[in-house]
Amino acid sequence: MILPFLLLQTVVASPLAIKPDTARPLHDAKHYEITLVLGDSGHHVLGEIETNWRLSSSEPIRLELDSALRVIRVLVNGRENTRLARTMYGRGGEDVLIPHEGRAGDSLTTRIRYHGEVRRGLAFRGDKTHDLAIFADNWPDRAHGWLALQDFPSDKATVAFRVQVPAAYQVLANGVLEKVDTLPYAHTVWSYRMDRPIPPYTMVIAVGKFAVNKLPDAACAVRCVPQTLWTFPEDSAFAASAPFRRVGSIVEFYSRLIGPFPYASLAHVEAVTPYGGMENATAIFYNDSLYRAKSLPEETVAHEIAHQWFGDAVTEDDWHHLWLSEGFATYLAAMWAEQTGGAAALAAAMRANAEAYFKSSAVERPILDPNVRHLDSLLNENNFQKGAWVLHQLRGMIGDSGFVTGLRNYYQRYRDGTALSADFAKVMSEAAGRDLDWYFRQALTQPGYPVLAVSASREGGKLVIEVRQAQKSEWGTYRLPGLELMLDGKLVRMDVDGPTQRKAFDGFSKVPSKIEVDPNGRWLLKRKA
Ligand SMILES: [Zn+2]
Repeated sequence: MILPFLLLQTVVASPLAIKPDTARPLHDAKHYEITLVLGDSGHHVLGEIETNWRLSSSEPIRLELDSALRVIRVLVNGRENTRLARTMYGRGGEDVLIPHEGRAGDSLTTRIRYHGEVRRGLAFRGDKTHDLAIFADNWPDRAHGWLALQDFPSDKATVAFRVQVPAAYQVLANGVLEKVDTLPYAHTVWSYRMDRPIPPYTMVIAVGKFAVNKLPDAACAVRCVPQTLWTFPEDSAFAASAPFRRVGSIVEFYSRLIGPFPYASLAHVEAVTPYGGMENATAIFYNDSLYRAKSLPEETVAHEIAHQWFGDAVTEDDWHHLWLSEGFATYLAAMWAEQTGGAAALAAAMRANAEAYFKSSAVERPILDPNVRHLDSLLNENNFQKGAWVLHQLRGMIGDSGFVTGLRNYYQRYRDGTALSADFAKVMSEAAGRDLDWYFRQALTQPGYPVLAVSASREGGKLVIEVRQAQKSEWGTYRLPGLELMLDGKLVRMDVDGPTQRKAFDGFSKVPSKIEVDPNGRWLLKRKA
């Protein structure tokens, strides 16, 4: 049987499928083979990147690269392509345009060599008391500060890194370490290979002198994932303690909940990064100040681990759907709290998410907000805290089993690919066996939250509960199916479906003295004082 609403969705353009990003990839980069030579200061980079493409037209290939980096040579299919065009390539701002003779559907290889001083995209640590350490700092589109690539989340690719550094340093990159070659002049080359496509914002290197420790496995009924801890030597004792003690169990928990861990291994890295944590595929970076202050919370570790599934393996196809990463990681961290601390821990985590959202200016805007122009502004309470609530409310509405089935199906269907909110809504509607499009439109395209004024009276021998929506009119009204009320300790439910909803209840001899609204915290709402 085909449900009629699924047919409808294919005909009508959904507001859940908007793509407001100003730039999109021209072609499909399938694989990057990256060679980097880092000078002793680390700030100078010599790079050569071979890219395998699947062309979508005869348009030139467009790579992004910071204009401070000078292109030395460009080859197409191993040759200088001067025959076709007078110029081997063109440069305009950050774009490197490479003409070619290919057509839509063709495969093609480009090789670009460049060098210069890196201005952004790499973060450096190094002063009189500390050795030099270098960390990729790509989010959201700073990868092309040091790499020549198509810097869009929608263009995922596999990647191999060969990184040459002075012999005293170690290198970490995405994927599996293949080998370390020693060169005659006290340099080494570290080769890593990532065989699953990942978005460019998670293609990273870390260079430094690290203490590397293997973390203990958990029970691993699904598959044991080797995990390592990379820290500055002076912080290795702290790092091996509280925040990373249970990473084996965290990976195991998510593997059971969602599906097996997407990659071969996982490294947790003390790093210089502007963020508390950054979920680079197989190599999570954490802010080093949290180590020095001994304040890295397990919640952050769980959040970044959850991103390996949602963010890295399933990636938002457009930055404006960032909640598919951040809302998911925030909610899955709350579910880890529930796993270890029970329902009360989940409730506490979701209350904290609600409070952070309520007092933010994000309440005036919807989650899917085409007006956001600066990508950094997307790191807001809509995409994180309210995004987590979108999932929590959904779970409350359709139940644990439908919710988990949908989450698993969504992961399975979009693993190693990209998705929009409309894709998630469709999978969840299928899992729930009913059309949830209205819910996702409400949760993602409507700003604010319901503010409920609840009153009780007796009419004709029955108790009548009236729920009036008292939020500002610009936010609109909300549907709250199955809203729970606790009337003098007795739980009742009613479907709220308009500005004023009334329902009569039998079995109450008097107007209750105590009315609790949504006592189990299933909805992101406030009660009118
Ligand atoms: Zn995150």
